[in-house]
Amino acid sequence: MASKTAKQSLSHLERTAAEPRDETLHRVLLTNIDPVNPTIRLFRLSPVLEPGWRPITFLPGQWLDVYVPGISKAGGFTITSPPSLLQPPSNYLELAIQKSPSNPPAAWLWQEEERILGSQLQVRVGGSFVWPPPLLSNGESGVEEKGAGKATRVVFIAGGVGINPLMSIVSHLEQTAREAGKLGLVVKFFYTTRDPGPHTNPSEILFLERLISVFDTLGNEGQFQLFLTSGQNGGEEVRSEKHVVGVKGIEIQRRRIHHTDLLDALGPIEERKRTICYICGIPTMTDEFVEKAKNAEGMNEANVLSEKWW
Ligand SMILES: Cc1cc2nc3c(=O)[nH]c(=O)nc-3n(C[C@H](O)[C@H](O)[C@H](O)COP(=O)(O)OP(=O)(O)OC[C@H]3O[C@@H](n4cnc5c(N)ncnc54)[C@H](O)[C@@H]3O)c2cc1C
Repeated sequence: MASKTAKQSLSHLERTAAEPRDETLHRVLLTNIDPVNPTIRLFRLSPVLEPGWRPITFLPGQWLDVYVPGISKAGGFTITSPPSLLQPPSNYLELAIQKSPSNPPAAWLWQEEERILGSQLQVRVGGSFVWPPPLLSNGESGVEEKGAGKATRVVFIAGGVGINPLMSIVSHLEQTAREAGKLGLVVKFFYTTRDPGPHTNPSEILFLERLISVFDTLGNEGQFQLFLTSGQNGGEEVRSEKHVVGVKGIEIQRRRIHHTDLLDALGPIEERKRTICYICGIPTMTDEFVEKAKNAEGMNEANVLSEKWW
């Protein structure tokens, strides 16, 4: 297995060389930049409707190879919007990109807004960490595995910017629930991120407000829990307040996600063969929870899907 240092020096294209990716490179315009906090920006990319253009298609959870002007190697960034927003009248893909001066495409995207807004980029869709899940069908994939049946529960675990692919997936599920009146699926969502402190505006926690709205739509079929950890104490519990100033109606724990939280979320043992688990975050956290979920009694290993970035 490659060491951490060796892994970190791989570029996106090298790191994802074995992943499926489309053939077509699409031209897109950078139409909007929205700062979330001092280290994360949201970007909107809209297809250039030139003669011969082909529609971009993707599954929730996929990423883009992103070619920015003047840099020959693509950066890899995950689509955070659902496929429906790429249809008229919205017509855009959204990315959430962390400031990273050492990654040339990320550094380009973190220039002053006025310098880059309206620029033309090229993107290619790729990745296999997607909804619908490959094994259990939820009626969307059309590739229902013999005897596998339908998923009845989905558990999402997001750490930090690992929220990105999961935001696209739950936004898609929210839309399905809106259209059908219900989802027909239990959705448990754990989001762990650094505690921004008592004086920070909750809108600075990436996608928190959007997630609250998604789980409001899902109602009794969904449960969202936010875990805030402090960098200084290794993530152990330091305070007991179960709220963030300005955020109402969600459960907040100021501690790490425990293994027991995961086991509870996976559901009763006899029903776990229909549980899907999606995990995305930093490698140590992702590996820890993937192992725990795969080894949980009643779980099918193939229904534990993960993606880790660096
Ligand atoms: C599947 C996947 C999805 C991701 N999604 C997101 C996301 O949604 N948002 C987000 O902020 N980050 C995302 N990332 C992480 C992002 O691609 C970078 O890894 C991140 O910006 C950190 O960059 P880095 O330079 O610190 O390290 P790395 O990207 O690991 O790069 C290591 C070194 O390689 C060189 N290098 C890397 N890329 C290039 C290049 N294009 N041209 C020239 N040299 C290069 C640089 O010297 C760099 O220091 C994702 C990564 C993967 C694999």
